[in-house]
Order: sequence, then structure tokens, then C-alpha cells
Amino acid sequence: MRLFLDYPIIINYNLHQQLRSVPHEKQMHRDRQFAEERQSYMEATTTSDIRLENRMYKPEIERYESAIFNCLKTVYSNPVGRMVLGKINKQTTVWIIPKTAADMKVCNCATTNPLKYDLPKDKDEPYGRRGLGYGNTVIEFLPESGDDTLIHELVHAYRYSHKKFNKIEIHFQNEKILDSQDTEEFFAHQMSTIYMSQAKRPLMMDYKWQSIREKNKIYDFLAGNTEMLMALKLFLNHECLARLAAQSFATDYNPFRDYQELEARFLKNNPSATPLPELGGMLIN
Ligand SMILES: [Zn+2]
Repeated sequence: MRLFLDYPIIINYNLHQQLRSVPHEKQMHRDRQFAEERQSYMEATTTSDIRLENRMYKPEIERYESAIFNCLKTVYSNPVGRMVLGKINKQTTVWIIPKTAADMKVCNCATTNPLKYDLPKDKDEPYGRRGLGYGNTVIEFLPESGDDTLIHELVHAYRYSHKKFNKIEIHFQNEKILDSQDTEEFFAHQMSTIYMSQAKRPLMMDYKWQSIREKNKIYDFLAGNTEMLMALKLFLNHECLARLAAQSFATDYNPFRDYQELEARFLKNNPSATPLPELGGMLIN
């Protein structure tokens, strides 16, 4: 286990603890023993592999934990990343643990969940849905995913740590394709794109359409989708990270700073439209 500088972040290589506990957790889930399942998950997440098998996993632990430490150092070296790290609630802990090969088969992605997630209310809830709750968080992450993915997950962890995580579906259009995503993914994507712009690295248009685009094309995309503009406005009004990003960074891409310009583009293309409200009176904590 390793702390990251003086941030409330613990890197914990616990792959073998997970491999042992997951079959039991699945059985408890089938038996609807949700509280016991969560207890087992919390214990496995916060226990290191170091004492297992006469310390034989020490080299693996060393490799993973130093790779994650370095990835966090890359995030820290970027002013946008440093701001996100600094705003995570210090009364909470972010646990960064490896993803198992079985989990990687389900989704080749990183995830962030509350450690003490809300227990399922529905007895038919499928195994593995742990996204509701707040406080301490767990980021399942492999270093190969890179610092651009880690900053995205840290934004989720930040929102959970302050009890602000609250998904609202937004609908949008890309060329002729209609789709939807939630406000938490949208916000994490905007913050990670500002981070990438700060580092002068290629920008992804969207969380779902991971195509590389110039800033202007991404601004056209945002200005063409009213619910995305309304979500930007909502975050500007109620989320201090968005406000700080608007005021603090002279990055080329910064839709929080440039919100007025985006709304002006929208109004120019829709002369009969009126200025937009923020997305439906929510998320106010
Ligand atoms: Zn995400």
C-alpha cells in the first residue's frame, strides 16, 4: 500500500485478495446477502496482497504500485490535474486497485464506485452494480489505461467524495446519430479534455465518440446540442471545479470559460431560440 504524497489517495495492489473474495461475493449476491457481500468487498479492497503466500507477490505489488504512483505524478504535474487532486474531500479516501482479468473481459475500462456503496433495493439487482452512494471511493484501474483515463476517474471520485455524484441523462446528436449519456460522464470528460488541452495533447470529441477533433469542431458539437450546453451551464452555476476551471486555465479548450461564446454560436444558428436555462434544477447540494 502506498499513499500518494499528502493526498487522500491509497494505491493498493490487492489482485489476489479480489480473486479469492469475488466467488464468495457472487454467492452472497445470489443468496441476497447484500450487506455481507459489501462487507467482503470492502475488506478485500482495503487489504494488501503483501501478507499472502509468504510475501510472494511483493514484486507484483511493487510493479503495480510504482506504476500507479508515476501515473498520479503525471496527473499532479498538470495544473488541471493538480486542481482536481487538491479538491478531493480529505475526509475521504480514494482507493486505487487493479482490475482483474475477468473484469477486463467485461469492460476494458476503468471504473469508480463508492467503497461503501448503497445496498441494492431491488432483490433482482444484477451482481456488480455498485455506483450509488458517496464518501470513500474505489478506482479500478490498470496503468496501461494512462493518465488521461485516471484524471477522468479522479473527477468521479471527487464528485462522490463531496456527495455530489448524481447522474442525469442528457440527449444529444452527432451528425445524424441520436444518443444519450449522463451528466457525470459529460462532466468528467470535459475536465479531462481541459487537462489534455493544458498538456497540448490531442482532444477527444466526446466520452462515447472517442474520435480526435480540433477544439473548434468540438465547440460546434457542443453548440449544436442544447442539453450539453444546459449541462455546462448547470455545472458552471453549481460545481466549483467548473468555475475554477473557467477562471484558472488559459487552455485552448475550455468550454466553461467559453460558455458565452458557445451559447452565442447556438443562438446564431437558431435565431428564434431564447437563451438557455441550466439543466433541470438538480444537483444542488
Ligand atoms: Zn466515467
